[in-house]
Parts: sequence; structure tokens; C-alpha cells
Amino acid sequence: MSQTLFKRIIDREIPAKIVYEDELCLAFEDINPQAPTHLLVIPKKEIASIAELGEDDAALVGHLLVVVCKLAAERKLSNGYRVVANSGPDAGQTVPHLHFHLLGGRAMSWPPG
Ligand code: AMP
Repeated sequence: MSQTLFKRIIDREIPAKIVYEDELCLAFEDINPQAPTHLLVIPKKEIASIAELGEDDAALVGHLLVVVCKLAAERKLSNGYRVVANSGPDAGQTVPHLHFHLLGGRAMSWPPG
């Protein structure tokens, strides 16, 4: 199977504006930001989407969300923010590597389109 775009970012084959990295995950600026803050937090482990998660991934997903929380605090998103994980075609997922979008810095409407 060919490597996903995000795996290539992890491997530094494609440049990205990386804002955080640890042994389990990477966070970088979305190339097409939908809000003043739009970061993607991804695991280094290759998991296609939320639909592919197993019991063994529970701690990893918890870690990703704690990183989202820390990045939101760092960006001073004290008025709120949105965390999105699109899963599959109906949700509009375009990159088959699990990622959490962190969106903030503006008011957002609900429901999403
Ligand atoms: P999704 O549609 O939920 O799968 O989200 C994929 C996201 O990846 C979109 O918001 C894209 O703008 C973003 N994206 C695509 N290519 C890159 C890239 N090279 N660097 C950073 N973000 C990207």
C-alpha cells in the first residue's frame, strides 16, 4: 500500500509547519486553514481513521486529545474551540490517516455542513 500524505509528513518527506512532536504523535498547521487556528494532531502509528481503532489504541487516542488540549491552551483559545475527526467518505475524510482537527479563534456554527 502506498504511504499516506501524513505518513510522508511524519517521515519528513513532505514539509509541514510542525508545531509539536513527541514519541507518539505530531501536530502541524493545516495547509488550508478553516479558522485562525487550524492544527492537525496525528499519531505516528498508521491508523486509517476512528473506524479502525482497537482496544489497544485507547491510551494513544487519550494522549492525542491531551495534546490537543495543551495546544489549545498554548494558543490561548480560552473562548472555546472545536475538535473534529472526520471518519470515512460521508464525513468528508480526505486523508486516510487518523487526525484530529483543532479549530479555534472564531465563533463557529452548528450543525456542520
Ligand atoms: P480530512 O478532510 O478530515 O481528512 O482532513 C485532511 C486535512 O489535511 C485537510 O484539512 C487538508 O487541508 C489538510 N492537508 C492536506 N494536505 C496537507 C499538507 N500537505 N499539509 C498540511 N495539511 C494538509
